[in-house]
Amino acid sequence: MGSNLLILIYLLASITFIIGLKMLSHPARARRGNLIAAAGMAAAIAGTVFLYKDEDGNALHNYAWIFGGLLIGAIAGTVAARKVKMTAMPEMVSLFNGMGGACAALIAIVEFGHLVHNLQSVSGLTAIDTTFRDGLKQHLLIIVAGLVIGSISFAGSMVAWAKLNGKIRDFVFKGQHLFNIALLLIIFLLAVYLTGWLPAGGVSLFYIILGLSLLYGVFFVMPIGGADMPVVISLLNSFTGVAAACGGFLYNNKAMLTGGILVGAAGTLLTILMCKAMNRSLMNVLIGSFGATDKSTGGGKKEQGNYKEISLSDAAMIMNYAHKIIIVPGYGLAVAQAQHTCHELEKILEAKGVEVTYAIHPVAGRMPGHMNVLLAEADVSYDKLQEMEQANEAFPATDVVLVLGANDVVNPAAKTDPTSPIYGMPILDVELAKAVIVNKRSMKPGYAGIENNLFFRPKTSMLFGDAKKVLQDLIGELKAL
Ligand code: NDP
Repeated sequence: MGSNLLILIYLLASITFIIGLKMLSHPARARRGNLIAAAGMAAAIAGTVFLYKDEDGNALHNYAWIFGGLLIGAIAGTVAARKVKMTAMPEMVSLFNGMGGACAALIAIVEFGHLVHNLQSVSGLTAIDTTFRDGLKQHLLIIVAGLVIGSISFAGSMVAWAKLNGKIRDFVFKGQHLFNIALLLIIFLLAVYLTGWLPAGGVSLFYIILGLSLLYGVFFVMPIGGADMPVVISLLNSFTGVAAACGGFLYNNKAMLTGGILVGAAGTLLTILMCKAMNRSLMNVLIGSFGATDKSTGGGKKEQGNYKEISLSDAAMIMNYAHKIIIVPGYGLAVAQAQHTCHELEKILEAKGVEVTYAIHPVAGRMPGHMNVLLAEADVSYDKLQEMEQANEAFPATDVVLVLGANDVVNPAAKTDPTSPIYGMPILDVELAKAVIVNKRSMKPGYAGIENNLFFRPKTSMLFGDAKKVLQDLIGELKAL
């Protein structure tokens, strides 16, 4: 009875995951979707804790450890989620993703320990019949797969986290490309040897595989830089999903299995979409980044000429008399937390009869959908958001483009400079509009670390200052007109 109920709970939990994921595809329903999936996960955890019985009919008993762990995790997660600033969200996502990978690797380590312990009661593997040996190999294969994928995801996510918050920079050494491929090959061969041949000394081999996988995770993400981080982050996300699915296989836990597969599949699809958005193949991102991260090339040090500044009152004047304005939000808008002020500016302009829309680049900000989330927080209507292709068609008929804290996503080097690390990435062609006003605090580069020739072009005027302050002042000027 208990077991049937548990299967039903797992089934319902899996359904909530699918519904939740579907609802995440639209900002208006995303919050509810998240809650529905979370409720399903809570039910699956409670069901496992109270209803699970092993093959011998034993229920879980170590409640102090279980609830102790749940409590610590719940408190740490709640505090982190409440405290995190919107701009630090991508780092937190990387950190949490890394924790998922670490969990999968820990499960593999614990289950390997159980396996070794159980085998010690059996006298010598050669004495074991073939069916048992085959079953053992399959079990070990899942354990090792969880170990390798989980630890790569953990180490890689930690490096991504440190890179996103600026603690470490890209790191490449000569021949790293070959080194990484060789390392991956060694891990693969050792894993095949361990699971296929069950050699004596398998315990040491298991821990060598763990060490090498962690090392690979670090070297895999270290050199990837420029504008390619979004692809790597979603790829690591899919790794964690697959590693969790391995755990689902090990425990024959359907909810864990479905959850893991859904994360793995969604992460893979997101990776493909991100690659498309960057106009790159996955291979090109993973291998092409080598050397391309040399920021001394890529238009970085070329003589760019002079830029021209615009005063607040002139900017307000131009915007006041425009028919159509497109706002291009970027990472700087999130840093300044100026989304509400931006929405206010939009409303004031609209009250003056100006048509205002937003152009959303798929990798603007620091996480997929960052700008959508940011603007949704300020209640900007979804039908005002234009995707890149749509916006690029609209620019020629636009009077003013207001670039707010965006840089890489409007950098023409992506189209014109083959030596640039962002070459080939589709960008927002803001220059097609009649005038471009760029707001940022200085002439410093964006995430890719390269200069932007747009700032030096004749149609462009720079409006320096913190986005929130500048928008507040613009609102003041517009009200006075
Ligand atoms: P960028 O990082 O290219 O540029 C942001 C600009 O904002 C900077 O040049 C900065 O200039 C300016 N800025 C910072 N703070 C403020 C502020 N308070 N007020 C006004 N301006 C400010 O951002 P984009 O959104 O254009 O591009 C995103 C980049 O991040 C891409 O390279 C993308 O590949 C990468 N990335 C994206 C991820 C994703 O999933 N979306 C994940 C990881 C990386 P200044 O200092 O002069 O003010």
